[in-house]
Amino acid sequence: MREMPEAPLAPGLYIVATPIGNLEDITLRALRVLRQADCIACEDTRQTQKLLAHFDIHTPTVSYHQHNERARGAELLARLQQGESLALVSDAGLPGISDPGAEIVQLAIAAGIAVTPIPGPCAAVTALAAAGLSTERFLFLGFAPARAGERRSFFESLRSERATLVFYEAPHRILSTLEDAVAVFGADRHAVLARELTKIHEEFLRGPLHELLAALRDREIQRGEMTLLLAGAPDADTQSGVTPTTSISARLAELMQSESLDEMAALKRIARERGASKSALYRELQRERSRV
Ligand code: SAM
Repeated sequence: MREMPEAPLAPGLYIVATPIGNLEDITLRALRVLRQADCIACEDTRQTQKLLAHFDIHTPTVSYHQHNERARGAELLARLQQGESLALVSDAGLPGISDPGAEIVQLAIAAGIAVTPIPGPCAAVTALAAAGLSTERFLFLGFAPARAGERRSFFESLRSERATLVFYEAPHRILSTLEDAVAVFGADRHAVLARELTKIHEEFLRGPLHELLAALRDREIQRGEMTLLLAGAPDADTQSGVTPTTSISARLAELMQSESLDEMAALKRIARERGASKSALYRELQRERSRV
């Protein structure tokens, strides 16, 4: 059978998803666009060269990253206005999703240039699809702030969010992020850590936050790419004992009975769940007791 010649690529900007690990996760259309485009704008040209070499693609590349987004964006726009076809890729996944891309897309739209998405892998939705949490509504939050104080406030602002929460996280911060998550969302909030998606060591850790934290603490080092998902806040009528609307004394009694904890250990647990100090909780407990 004779091969049909490929139709030429129309001018415009193509937002091309690339694998997040497994090189088989690239679409035929993405390969064709990368092969036919006049130029490929890459977050890191060396990284993309590996992908291009694997698929025997020889399209010229140009760098487009966080630090040259402004200047390079104007250059790329000029080329698009001259009728070129330009493919945009990031190191992995979908450009623009916690990666450069949004700005050139906005520039192109404002200049009346066609913007075509070439869909494919994205760590956030890939993790969500297999996490086992509700997919009805989800909120993608990118990376939580690196500083502990800002991260806590950020988490506080999400405490009552009903949608499934999806975060990206770096391995060297995962323990402190989980500790803050326990303090704000409660040790029992269900969570999933999706590690090394699509790669040989792909792993899903599923369970209450305190179990995930314990499992990771048991490991000598934290490594690999990680996406963290948290179940949304429970409905008012299905609230568990971890929510601050339950009195401290009720939660204390519950923990002492169900987990055979003594009062101090139970108080310590509630402090972790609520992100409060033990002494503040103790004072509140005294107040509760004086009211009855
Ligand atoms: N644009 C990418 C996308 O569409 O998924 C995300 C880029 S962001 C700079 C990189 C972060 O995505 C990583 O730090 C990690 O949190 C998450 N990530 C990327 N690849 C992953 C993988 N294979 N498994 C789990 N998380 C991954």
